[in-house]
Amino acid sequence: MTLATDTRADQVVDKLAEREIDLLLVNDLINVRWLTGFTGANGLALVGPDLKLFVTDYRYVEQAQAQVPESFEHARGKQDLSEEAVKRMSGRVGYDDAHVTVRAFDRLKEKLPEGVELVPAAGLVEELRAVKDAREVDAIRAAAALADEVFAEIAERGLVGRTEYDVAVDAEVGFRRRGASGPSFPPIVAAGPHGALPHAEPRQVAIEADTLVVIDMGCILDGYCSDCTRTYATGEGVSDEMRSVYDLVLRAQLASLDAVRAGPGGKAVDGVARDLIGAEGRADQFGHGLGHGVGLEIHEEPRLSQSASDTPLVAGNVVTVEPGVYVPGGFGVRIEDLVVVTDDRPEILTSFTKDLTVVD
Ligand code: ZN
Ligand code: ZN
Repeated sequence: MTLATDTRADQVVDKLAEREIDLLLVNDLINVRWLTGFTGANGLALVGPDLKLFVTDYRYVEQAQAQVPESFEHARGKQDLSEEAVKRMSGRVGYDDAHVTVRAFDRLKEKLPEGVELVPAAGLVEELRAVKDAREVDAIRAAAALADEVFAEIAERGLVGRTEYDVAVDAEVGFRRRGASGPSFPPIVAAGPHGALPHAEPRQVAIEADTLVVIDMGCILDGYCSDCTRTYATGEGVSDEMRSVYDLVLRAQLASLDAVRAGPGGKAVDGVARDLIGAEGRADQFGHGLGHGVGLEIHEEPRLSQSASDTPLVAGNVVTVEPGVYVPGGFGVRIEDLVVVTDDRPEILTSFTKDLTVVD
């Protein structure tokens, strides 16, 4: 599937004018994909008001012709594509200082024509990527729906007596069988005290009855990621503390969902969940940010966290809302939805129930 990309180069050009940059060199492959639709492993673009150039090597020439819009001039380069791009550079050229290696930067500098100035421009494309168009939202919605089915399948097959690893493998197979190109990150399946580690790796250890299991997973469909967490009880015999922490996290999740809309910044929305959890004396047990943007990458802009910028959320952002409480040596609870920011209430893309569900 090729997503609409014809207007994206124009969006980049508008940004360049704001920063007084003449041309932008785009060579991070995710950014190249967003800008041009190209999904191969070697490609770059050079974009300015009077130039839209796409360069790849001979292996991808045909693929590029099929994927990259005709508004781009196509060029064939050698393995090091920047040699071809450098020939067309003039004036102030923005480059991605967050992704270009020191070695690649030195090589680029050696070949620069007279009068060309390289200026750092990291994050420019990422800023644009943070606002999804309708087709991108459709792709993410489909990836989330697919993950919903896998959550339902896991609940149906049960958890007690199976290993965390076995459940994680099942999830990956479930994604691929339904047409995903793979998981968007290695699935997390973490039972009991292991659930107190927010990024736990699944173990070859059987899941016990009457505890909590954190399952965090998502898939990639047509290049776009999904991300969802549910925490299940593996029996009616879970402790009162587990139940009350689950209720707290759910309350924090619902309250912060209510705050997600165009207007407030990521820091303010994070604060809604953090205040509620802090009021129960568990501030230090919620050690990560409330959420992150999701798109072609599983973690992208905007961030919902205490260190996030004050930049207001805008309609078309796609973010997770995932408060968690982690009781060291005890258990963990995290509840995560993937949502589309609108001018009003967010559209929630992950639909599996958030009531504490017994899966034994
Ligand atoms: Zn997640
Ligand atoms: Zn997440």
